[in-house]
Amino acid sequence: METQFSRLSQHLYVHHGHVNTGILCDGDRALLIDPSGTTFQMTLGELGITKVDQILFTHHHRDSTTDFPISDGVRVGVPTEEASWFTEVETFWNDSQYRWHLYNYHPHNLMLADAIRVTDTYTEGAQIAWGSASLTVLETPGHTDGSVTYLIDVDGKRFAFTGDLIYDEGQLWELYSLQKGQQTSDYHGFLGARDELKQSLEKVRQASPAMLIPTHGAVMDNPDRAIDALLERLAYCYDKYVAISALRHYFPQLFAEFEGHPGHMPIREGKPPPEYLRHFGTTWLIISERDEAFVMDCGSPNVIKQIQQLQADGEISEVTQFWVTHYHDDHVNAIPEFQETFPCETIADSVVAAVITNPIGFRLPCISPAVTRVDRITRDGDSWQWNEFTMTAYHFPGQTYYHGGLLVEGRGVRMFFGGDSFTMAGIDDYCSGNRNLLGADVGYEKCLRLIQELKPTHIFNCHVDPAFDFTDAEIV
Ligand SMILES: [Zn+2]
Ligand SMILES: [Zn+2]
Repeated sequence: METQFSRLSQHLYVHHGHVNTGILCDGDRALLIDPSGTTFQMTLGELGITKVDQILFTHHHRDSTTDFPISDGVRVGVPTEEASWFTEVETFWNDSQYRWHLYNYHPHNLMLADAIRVTDTYTEGAQIAWGSASLTVLETPGHTDGSVTYLIDVDGKRFAFTGDLIYDEGQLWELYSLQKGQQTSDYHGFLGARDELKQSLEKVRQASPAMLIPTHGAVMDNPDRAIDALLERLAYCYDKYVAISALRHYFPQLFAEFEGHPGHMPIREGKPPPEYLRHFGTTWLIISERDEAFVMDCGSPNVIKQIQQLQADGEISEVTQFWVTHYHDDHVNAIPEFQETFPCETIADSVVAAVITNPIGFRLPCISPAVTRVDRITRDGDSWQWNEFTMTAYHFPGQTYYHGGLLVEGRGVRMFFGGDSFTMAGIDDYCSGNRNLLGADVGYEKCLRLIQELKPTHIFNCHVDPAFDFTDAEIV
């Protein structure tokens, strides 16, 4: 097996396993930063290390903390702010607020599975003397709320172990951890931790290290260039996100500073829906010429009451079909009660059905524990007739991967029920945990191409009263 480590200075090495682990040596003993994985022992052997006497972790994610056996006498140091996420992990895993509904992700899924014993906790400016080196702790939140950077002064040079703050020049390890709400829940905060990340990177820059050693990624020997490139790309990426974000419709105050930016899609007004539609909560209801009802989604018992009222008023006879757009709790919470009240056929796309029939098998944003019975599973392009309308079902992986779209043609219109995927301001939410895949045939690109091909006269969002459409120019 080839050597898996590099030497940064006389006393400092980095092991390159599934993460980078810092090895500060003093004779045959070592201090380790973010040890994780099993390939590590060989490097220690090659370096002649027989005793690990101190371990430092930059943050609590299990990808950089697990599978390294920690013997009893070893000192283990972690950021004070994250200490309980090392020692009391069961409070996370046993708390139902971290299992169901899930609108907030701090701390998140990368929590340790098993607790790690901690002997030392560090806050900003803490000093650690070890061998011929001196270490300084910088609080550098961003990737997690309590992440720290360890500056090591050794052999006349300064090195910064930055955790997952940066991956390589201009690159990040992943975007999911930056999902964070400012004035709203984390769910609506795409790249919401970018300001914290930026301040942390500036703090690291101020400390003038010669090298940045990320937990995941490549050792960077030009910190200024690496940080500048990342900050520039983050700003660019966020601007592109805002340019077509549907959140501008829901929370205009969050985006005031971006108004009028070049290339940002103007928000057009919607148009009135046909008079045989009804909209309650997140539910759309179509009334046929024979007064039958086709219902989409049921997030709250209020919707059931309102449909019963329509029946009492003689506006509808009965509900004959029910379609579920996607798995989010505000669309499915009351489906079990709905199904008891209105015995009709429940139809959903196969990808949606997988989640709503078995929610315990998934861990996703806004997931509901409600279990839905699905009578008919559709595949992309399946069509059927419902009264005077032709219905065509699609897998529509927009707002989430687990999402369907329904084209309803009849009475001179082509209506597309896109769940929560679009508003007249653009694409919805962009919550990274929803699995919005990027690429030509997947995610929003697939959805937009379908809209372009189907040319609906009316697009509907479950949360928005007016109908809308997109021009070809807007889609491109
Ligand atoms: Zn991490
Ligand atoms: Zn939704």
